[in-house]
Amino acid sequence: MSKRKVGLFFGSFNPVHIGHMILANYMATRTELDEVWMVVSPHNPLKKRGSLARDHDRLHLVELAIGDNPNLRISRIEFDLPKPSYTVDTLAVLRDKHPAYEFALIMGSDNLQSFAKWKNHEIILRDYRLMVYRRPGYDDGPFATHPSVSIFDAPLMQLSATYVRNRLKDGESIRYLVPAAVEDELLKSGMYR
Ligand code: ATP
Repeated sequence: MSKRKVGLFFGSFNPVHIGHMILANYMATRTELDEVWMVVSPHNPLKKRGSLARDHDRLHLVELAIGDNPNLRISRIEFDLPKPSYTVDTLAVLRDKHPAYEFALIMGSDNLQSFAKWKNHEIILRDYRLMVYRRPGYDDGPFATHPSVSIFDAPLMQLSATYVRNRLKDGESIRYLVPAAVEDELLKSGMYR
């Protein structure tokens, strides 16, 4: 039986916005992947929290954003691992835990350019597929021709979580920048205000 192909989309999702959702859904429906798991990063205890919302709140917002989309799932795996976690270690744990799935890594071409700096990047390339979406301003770089790498031109929204946080801080509208259920929760809870 062939394994289900899962793309892992890592992020702090502080908060999740439609740029993330457009990309996650594109990867889950327009590539060889069967589904995408959004892997929420816990607070790194070596870093200052700054404007990072509580872990629980960021997870809840991603759940709301996914709603009933059958192609997307949330993963809390990094909350159970030693912090900070390295992608190569998270991948190994997921592979052990879910033998029925084949995992691939989703990343932007910005990350592919600096991929040589990742811990054990040659092991990642040997054992996993890299599903890379082009980001404006970044060349594909030297890893783009590696047999484990596939490059995609996904529809992109030029939007960042920082932009959404700043709109909330200034008391401005975030309508359409985040899924409606996320907007409701952000306004109700007063997060980032
Ligand atoms: P911040 O503004 O706080 O840095 P962010 O919007 O970049 O946040 P992250 O949680 O860091 O959000 O993003 C998770 C992943 O999604 C990262 O790999 C990031 O490169 C990617 N990403 C962020 N914004 C977009 C976007 N608009 N379209 C596609 N991918 C995005």
